Amino acid sequence: MCRRSVLCLTVVAVAACGGEDDSSDVSCHISRSGCQRQLFDDVRQLRGGNDGNLPDFRVISVDEFRGELLAAQDKDDKSETCMDRALRRSLQSLDLVPVDQTLGDAAVSVALQTIAAFYSPEDDLVTVIERQERDPVAATAVMAHELVHALQQREGLFDGFPEGDPADSDGTMAYESLVEGEATFVELAVIPYRAHRALEVIPWETIFERMLVAVQGEIERSSAPLTYAQSSFRYAVGSHYFGRHYLDGGMTNSSNLLESWPRSTLPMVAENAGRSPAVVEPLRCGRPVPPSGYQVVADDRLGPVLAYVFLQRVLGIEDAWVLALQWRDDRLVVYLGPEEKVALTWRVRFADSEAASLFSERLAAAATERDNWYGERAGALEVLLAASFSGDPRDLWPTANTICGDGDPPLNRQPKAEQVCPGPPTASHRLGLGRRLLGPLDRALP
Ligand SMILES: [Zn+2]
Repeated sequence: MCRRSVLCLTVVAVAACGGEDDSSDVSCHISRSGCQRQLFDDVRQLRGGNDGNLPDFRVISVDEFRGELLAAQDKDDKSETCMDRALRRSLQSLDLVPVDQTLGDAAVSVALQTIAAFYSPEDDLVTVIERQERDPVAATAVMAHELVHALQQREGLFDGFPEGDPADSDGTMAYESLVEGEATFVELAVIPYRAHRALEVIPWETIFERMLVAVQGEIERSSAPLTYAQSSFRYAVGSHYFGRHYLDGGMTNSSNLLESWPRSTLPMVAENAGRSPAVVEPLRCGRPVPPSGYQVVADDRLGPVLAYVFLQRVLGIEDAWVLALQWRDDRLVVYLGPEEKVALTWRVRFADSEAASLFSERLAAAATERDNWYGERAGALEVLLAASFSGDPRDLWPTANTICGDGDPPLNRQPKAEQVCPGPPTASHRLGLGRRLLGPLDRALP
């Protein structure tokens, strides 16, 4: 995927670094097989990978893309399921997704705004979306991005997560950031490479920083900030992390990803920011016991990257990224009760008490404006938020103590939703909060 307003501009900026070449030397007509073959060879030179057949290729219009997204959404969720409704309401009670859209609709609208091309591993097919405004250099770079995904597919990267499915959205985001990070870095590097420029002379740190700031700016403006973040941070965070390792010679391509996959985005964002190595420091409490009549339907870790959306958009913290870097753990548990009532608890741990204080103060201020929130400091480093889609969460959890579970059932993204949600389980029940936000694009790689 080329982030239309972020990555494409970055590609053009990189192309302009350190040379005066005519762009016709580095771009080619991506619908011609000669151009595709040439790019495929360039990509293999840059990151390795076996020779082999080119993937299939097609071009569709924006309208056709919209039609396919809506059809895929229809196939997945003919109508919003009870489980989907519960998750949507939980995210809406945190103000993270729009009040007037289903998660699927938000995913379609973000995809239409941002996606330039995608690769479908099951069909070995690159699809490019025809857009009037496409710059030929950016189009060439986008094609290289998708060809990286084709090579990743040939290396078995999409056969399943190494060592099983990651337990939470943060782990999934970390893995996807590596996969997209490699493709995005090659997308950026292929143009100077084709112009015979040394990659070392490109001001990469400035470029990565600019991309991150651009994504943050889009999140500030997006009507579906969590969906946008889920879809876009992978490119900015991942290309920075992958690119630095690539340029250091320590990570050449995605086969290394299988060994180096950090189970959280925390080590990636900390390293990108030049901080000392950071690791998850588990919460003091286990999973809270559900209120009477309620059942757990989602149990997830958002991680620093998705938590950032809450810090920036909902709490309006100016240096939200700096605070996100102080994130050390979180757990979001969603409960479904009688008559499909939805409640949630979200506990966040920070590296130091100063960060916990800032979060807790801003949370308390925001809670006074809402009658469905209840925020409390829970020790020196942790802060707790309880919320309900309607009604006062204090009726469910009278004090913060009742929200501190004894045992520690492992993070579980596959709760038995069908026990509280009527009807047979659908395929989407198997997905976690994070993947769910991607909606109909779940099985393609933008
Ligand atoms: Zn991609």
